[in-house]
Amino acid sequence: MKKLIKKSILNFSSYDAKRDLTGTVLDANENYRDYFKVYKDEIIEELSKLSINRYPEFDGGSLRDALADYAGLQPSNIIIGNGSDELISIIVNSFIDNGDFIVTASPTFSMYEIYGKIAGGRTIYIDSDENFNVNPEDIIKSANENKAKIVFVCNPNNPTGNIFKEEELIKIIEGVSSLVVIDEAYFEFLGETVISKVDKYKNLIVLRTMSKAFGLAGGRIGYGASSKEITDILLSVKPPYNMNSISTAYGLVFLRHRDEILKDVIKIIERREKLYRELKNSKEIKVYKSGANFLLIEVKDSEKVFNRLLNKNIRVRKYGRGKLKNYLRITIGSEEINENLINLIRGGYFDPEV
Ligand SMILES: *Cc1c(COP(=O)(O)O)cnc(C)c1O
Repeated sequence: MKKLIKKSILNFSSYDAKRDLTGTVLDANENYRDYFKVYKDEIIEELSKLSINRYPEFDGGSLRDALADYAGLQPSNIIIGNGSDELISIIVNSFIDNGDFIVTASPTFSMYEIYGKIAGGRTIYIDSDENFNVNPEDIIKSANENKAKIVFVCNPNNPTGNIFKEEELIKIIEGVSSLVVIDEAYFEFLGETVISKVDKYKNLIVLRTMSKAFGLAGGRIGYGASSKEITDILLSVKPPYNMNSISTAYGLVFLRHRDEILKDVIKIIERREKLYRELKNSKEIKVYKSGANFLLIEVKDSEKVFNRLLNKNIRVRKYGRGKLKNYLRITIGSEEINENLINLIRGGYFDPEV
């Protein structure tokens, strides 16, 4: 079998992380609330309108209209994906030939490199400074020297929470000949976006998702915004019925209630800042400013802190190697979860000497 597999994926190992969802789950930047419980009747009504024996609409139909309205764009600017993960794959498959370069910052979301590899592309990582900031000039220089096909910028960045200023993003978009993909998966927690620029800049794609702020990770709805020209290219490559009707029904109801859901986002931001201040006060912890719904921290011994939290049934994300050795990423949850974490910090729980 091995000799039949394509070379680019020979060293891949399958992803079989079985997640334990008991206790306090703070490891995947999801929304702690399940909005099905809030909008149950409306969702059931929306589902009952479906003809599940029929294929869904090719372009997402009314969900595409609703997302365009939310983004302040035209439906012709929008492509919907089975999660924005699928859109990363569609973008890479549309632009990367064997040997082509992708440029991105380090550390960042790993899927850019993984989909890049599958397509036969190579990813160049631009180093960040001690606060995980990346110099836009370094990205521009590398993209131009290597004639990169795609530059991926995750803003706010996962897993560091770092933010690029709008003028830095514009500098990158204007400074390269590459396609520039700005991944705004955490947009709602920052409130800043370049999505209105997609008609002005013909090399720009903005990616968004309903998995994080909208609490729809299980529904798999991501969307991309770009000029009609790019959108049409991506639509020509995407699997025809990538969005299922059931998820689409959920997406419609959640978007209808966006004002309420975005009020919860404001509370999450307030909790993030409160937890940040608390972590900042602790000598044992280094915490990084975040524009997303999580905080990245560096502790003396992440393995030990991780296991201590696990003993309390709190699951956070551990990195444990490379540049992020001794780093943990904590998703912001409910008021109760936040207060619990604050008590643990005050009790020396994050200090391996205690
Ligand atoms: C979570 C996340 C995604 C993936 O979102 P889905 O829509 O659930 O596939 C994309 N980019 C970043 C940076 C993320 O953190």
